[in-house]
Amino acid sequence: MEHPAILNLCKRLEKQGYSVTYLSVDSKGMLNLEELRSSLREDTVLVSVMAANNETGTIFPIERIGQIVKSHGILFHVDAVQAVGKIALDLQDSPIDFLTLSGHKLHAPKGIGVLYVRRGVRFRPLLVGGHQEKGRRGGTENVPAMVGLGKAADLAQSFLQKEQTQVRALRDRLEQTILREIPDCQVNGHPALRLPNTSNIGFKYIEGEAILLSLDRYGICASSGSACTSGSLEPSHVLRAMGLPYTVLHGSIRFSLSRYTTSAEIERVLYLLPKVVQRLRDISPFKRESETTQGWLDTLQQESVMASASSTDDY
Ligand SMILES: *Cc1c(COP(=O)(O)O)cnc(C)c1O
Repeated sequence: MEHPAILNLCKRLEKQGYSVTYLSVDSKGMLNLEELRSSLREDTVLVSVMAANNETGTIFPIERIGQIVKSHGILFHVDAVQAVGKIALDLQDSPIDFLTLSGHKLHAPKGIGVLYVRRGVRFRPLLVGGHQEKGRRGGTENVPAMVGLGKAADLAQSFLQKEQTQVRALRDRLEQTILREIPDCQVNGHPALRLPNTSNIGFKYIEGEAILLSLDRYGICASSGSACTSGSLEPSHVLRAMGLPYTVLHGSIRFSLSRYTTSAEIERVLYLLPKVVQRLRDISPFKRESETTQGWLDTLQQESVMASASSTDDY
């Protein structure tokens, strides 16, 4: 369930002859640490785990994972892009060798990120060029973006408590009201180990893309899957990895809140969403009774082929 930023790099490495082991997750999107332990090999050089999943918000126990990885003398990378600014991360005395974060996920400008490298860990630069950044990354520094990210990180730090209280309370109100008022829906991801701002909800028997289009008409922005894969009608690889049923896979959308989200905005979603879901279900050909039958699956397959055919016209 890693981000394409990691997955596609793994694919590239495999093409170059490296062997990559992908670990499974359970239905809550959680790793099995025993599976991790037994997958480590004599020749394993690197383990990469995301601190929190960007689609479901599931938080991984990176400290414990790191201890396992380090006890085998293996380098440990954490993709913290989604976690930074939402939960506290402490790199002091941590088993993390490399950590990456991206500015625009914490209200900094786009095009700036951080690669943290633990003191003493050596690496070869990805971008070769001038001697900038002590030879770690060629190319002249983008100072305004760096200053922006520094400021954004400062602000994120000072609002961290608010994320845990105010943002979480709004998210929980959104989620609990939806679960109470809309039948046949479920929260995807880990019930407890989850970022405070993320809510991924599966509405059975309808298409997530259709919900998004309806919400968009009211100026409400949500997302199906990762923003980086939206536009493709493939159900999210993250939800598929969790083994969610077909009905949930296709009808899942993600709400992302921030410290700028207001209670009025949440109330507006809660007012409109039940009507949107009801209207889509009224015209949905998928009937609950036939959920498990092959006929239903066939209809769904045909339907998504038709949907992808028509959606290409929209672009
Ligand atoms: C957004 C995201 C990335 C990619 O970062 P970009 O700077 O947008 O390419 C990687 N990992 C996770 C978990 C993300 O949420």
